[in-house]
Amino acid sequence: MSNITSKGLSPAEILERPAFRGQLLIDGVWCSAADGATMERRSPAHGKVVATYALAGVADAERAIGAARRAFDHGEWPRMKGAERARVLRRVADGILERKHEIALLETLENGKPLAQSLAEIEGAADLWQYAATLARNLHGDTYNTLGDNTLGVVLREPIGVVSVITPWNFPFLIVSQKLPFALAAGCTAVVKPAEVTSATTVMLGEILVACGMPAGVVNILVGRGGVIGDTLVSHADVDMLSFTGSTAVGKGAVAKSASTLKKVSMELGGKNPQIVFADADFDAAVDAAVYGICFNAGQCCNSGSRILVQSSIAERFVNAVAERCAQARLGDPLTDGVQVGAITTERQLETILAYIDGARLAGAKIVLGGSRIDRPGMFVEPTIVSGVTPDMAIAHEEVFGPVLAILTFDTLDDAVALANGTLYGLSAAIWSTDFNTCIGAARRIRAGTVWINTFLEGHAELPFGGYRESGIGRELGRMATEDYTETKTVHMHVGPRTDWYLPR
Ligand code: NAD
Repeated sequence: MSNITSKGLSPAEILERPAFRGQLLIDGVWCSAADGATMERRSPAHGKVVATYALAGVADAERAIGAARRAFDHGEWPRMKGAERARVLRRVADGILERKHEIALLETLENGKPLAQSLAEIEGAADLWQYAATLARNLHGDTYNTLGDNTLGVVLREPIGVVSVITPWNFPFLIVSQKLPFALAAGCTAVVKPAEVTSATTVMLGEILVACGMPAGVVNILVGRGGVIGDTLVSHADVDMLSFTGSTAVGKGAVAKSASTLKKVSMELGGKNPQIVFADADFDAAVDAAVYGICFNAGQCCNSGSRILVQSSIAERFVNAVAERCAQARLGDPLTDGVQVGAITTERQLETILAYIDGARLAGAKIVLGGSRIDRPGMFVEPTIVSGVTPDMAIAHEEVFGPVLAILTFDTLDDAVALANGTLYGLSAAIWSTDFNTCIGAARRIRAGTVWINTFLEGHAELPFGGYRESGIGRELGRMATEDYTETKTVHMHVGPRTDWYLPR
């Protein structure tokens, strides 16, 4: 279906190539939408059509759920040995690596992020498929031989069933790979809906799954709008679990709707993540992390370091240094080598970012750097630093999801912890200090799913990821990742003659 690579081609030549064409994968067959609907996607950095798709409606979603249900209830996948599932998952990891340049290119064309970043993301995703393969062989329950002579207790882990996997547009391939291989490792079947604006790489993943021998119906892929097929995916009685990554607002709505059938939910939502810089920190390292934390993926990261909390005694020097370094970040065509900051992925997101910057200005904050859309084709925003921010301002506690850094100051560790915990989110935080007690003391008190100490935005398949409070429910990755996609069943066995309840023998 796709044979686009960037090898040896200039950006202009790449954009001249035919657009990617994606169909729906239902019950092992690539197909058009039942009503014939289609959509096209333009590159946010160039405004050129880079993909066309069949666009799923409710009838397609119902058919996909039916296929996943049959594959779960009657198919071979949930009944295979863990070792056999692991073999397929490893083949998928290899398949991803074989096509990594092609996948990375489509990720960049649809999302607007620099090509080198896309490539690193695809390689990281392949690692998650490999890690999930190891877990497929290690999923196990428990036994109790301590319940007396007459009893043996066995606790089974069973795949939960059909999982709706819904993903956002900021790390399309990485995020589907944080969910799907772990659900598959557990023996589940799935219906996957990527954000419609960045569907190409998930469709490519479908191609790889089919090529690797994934049985029909185990993974179904729907390119579709959340507003059209979302309700079906989150509330259908034949879906057992919802695994969602996206905004807190849409996530809350999805949880509410899923409650009509009391599904298990796993929610990875927004963040307003603080990097706390103490006066004794390694100054240059903290400056670099501040710039990285807000420029990476043009700030369109749930884990963006969108708040800097800096100790007052070094605040002025720190802000100046961050502004100077940030001004040097290379922004431009994501297909060009060396570019660090690419385009904003959607027009709606561009408007949101600019509205937050205007709001901060109106609220009395100071724009130290940037603050505007860049006057060039495509959707680009200058990396923006806002100082003089107070906790009551929207820019201090709401997720912008763009290259906009809010600076707040503090005097004591207690103040820093109070500020860090002062939003409704709790996804991640970083602490910069050379004092062990400061680092560990703050790390213990901060309510966030990940706390980095003297580093930022690093991740490993082995380490769980997720949020406190309105940043989500549950954790992904880590050695428990497959357990999330299981039900627990107690098998209570009686050994020997049973004492009657009614008439003791
Ligand atoms: P979004 O909430 O708009 O969309 C996410 C997904 O939900 C998309 O596939 C969308 O089509 C779908 N959707 C939309 N309406 C729906 C509905 N009514 N029912 C079911 N599904 C529906 O988010 P986005 O704009 O694509 O992504 C940005 C958000 O995602 C940010 O808030 C970011 O913080 C969050 N995010 C969180 C994590 C994390 O792991 N915590 C990771 C990446 C992104």
